[in-house]
Amino acid sequence: LADLMGVKSNDVITTCMSLGMMVSINQRLDAATIELVAEEYGYDVEFVDAEEMIEDEIEVEEDDPEDLEPRSPIITVMGHVDHGKTSLLDYIRKAKVAAGEAGGITQHVGAYEVETDSGKKITFLDTPGHEAFTAMRSRGAQATDIVILVVAADDAVMPQTIEAINHSKAAGVPMVVAINKMDKAGANPDKIKSQLSEHGVIVEEYGGKNQVAEVSAHTGEGIDELLEKVLIEAELMELQANPDRLAQGIVLESRIDKGKGTVANILIQNGTLKVGDPFVAGPVFGRVRAMENEHGERLEAAGPSTPIQLTGFDDTPQAGDRLIVPKEEKAAKEIANQRQQIRREQSLRQTKHLTLDDLSRRMALGEVSELNIIIKADVDGSIEALSGALQKLSTEEVSVNIIHTGSGAITESDVLLASASDAIIIGFQVRPTSTARKLAENESIDIRLFSVIYDAVDEVHDALEGMLSPEI
Ligand code: GDP
Repeated sequence: LADLMGVKSNDVITTCMSLGMMVSINQRLDAATIELVAEEYGYDVEFVDAEEMIEDEIEVEEDDPEDLEPRSPIITVMGHVDHGKTSLLDYIRKAKVAAGEAGGITQHVGAYEVETDSGKKITFLDTPGHEAFTAMRSRGAQATDIVILVVAADDAVMPQTIEAINHSKAAGVPMVVAINKMDKAGANPDKIKSQLSEHGVIVEEYGGKNQVAEVSAHTGEGIDELLEKVLIEAELMELQANPDRLAQGIVLESRIDKGKGTVANILIQNGTLKVGDPFVAGPVFGRVRAMENEHGERLEAAGPSTPIQLTGFDDTPQAGDRLIVPKEEKAAKEIANQRQQIRREQSLRQTKHLTLDDLSRRMALGEVSELNIIIKADVDGSIEALSGALQKLSTEEVSVNIIHTGSGAITESDVLLASASDAIIIGFQVRPTSTARKLAENESIDIRLFSVIYDAVDEVHDALEGMLSPEI
């Protein structure tokens, strides 16, 4: 700060002290203090998103449409507990991988590729459920192209089914429905389809756009059809990548191995990663030492939608960190350094999520045109009343979107969704769990608790009134 203003650092320290803050030269100042101090020297402060600035700088050139080739879709399986997510992943892995590939899957790389009867490939992420999906998204990363929503035919649409639906919708990821356990006596797929339609997932035979397959993860019935439907969805999406460019990918998991150092599971999203490439993954610099696929085979190069296990890191990146290969090694090191610095600063100065109090200011800056809300309440009746009343508060400038509702306490999963979608959480006659409260504090998510519907509506209304951008 002293450098930027062209004054001595001691002067800045003195100024801080005169403002009542005892600081040392190594200390980082928070935004409010920086503004105060700068004002003392006659400067106006403008904060910019440093991470975005760096990414803009290194933004690799756009792909020439001629270089783009179809790539295989990347799938996450979601659904209520015990509806068969793990069984489905297991069945597909055994049926579609072991047969073709010598040795089958010998190691965990966070995802695996299967080949369907039609000879096309699909990549499945190993971790089922919407928590991992949304945790990744709250870190700004999206790995999934299509969600397979598993619902047990002998059960019903359950709370986590609804969460999965809302988390996928908030991410804008299409869903293919797998109605599982069709081998069971009580299987009633029609009931499931009609319940799903109440939650906006309307299958094709009801005139909607969600494809559905009736399957059994035990007998394998319907699984080929399910995979074909996933491929149809993928075709509609025209998923493409350019294998002839420097690689971009995402860290799915990482760990430290005694012999190899940091080992990370990476999903390549675009381009081709080659042995010897310098790279940066989040704040970590590295150079590709070795790559292996899920069959334990060494690879010299890995192209789009390929999951790999990678070694060659200087340090350990985190799940959700983005991996890029810049043109020059020097740039990779620079980016790693800058990202480290930003991380340090961000851990001191949390990333700001939207709060009701902050709405009008951010609206005036043109930053906000929608207000995403998650509603948790004690009973369904209150949820309906609240969503109806809040949605009516939408104006031309600001649309109020209820992105998820549910009965019961506010959970970690709600907070993650809020973080990923920059939403606020309204609790009516319910409270957050203690882990949810802690997470909300860390992520600076605004949770508002009410026991009178009118109060909730009033508060949001007031915030929106304040945030209306001036008419011209
Ligand atoms: P998850 O919690 O969604 O991952 O569910 P699991 O895959 O662990 O399955 C929960 C239970 O349902 C297990 O006992 C499975 O054996 C059983 N199950 C899963 N799929 C099927 C199926 O297609 N048919 C039958 N009969 N049971 C199934």
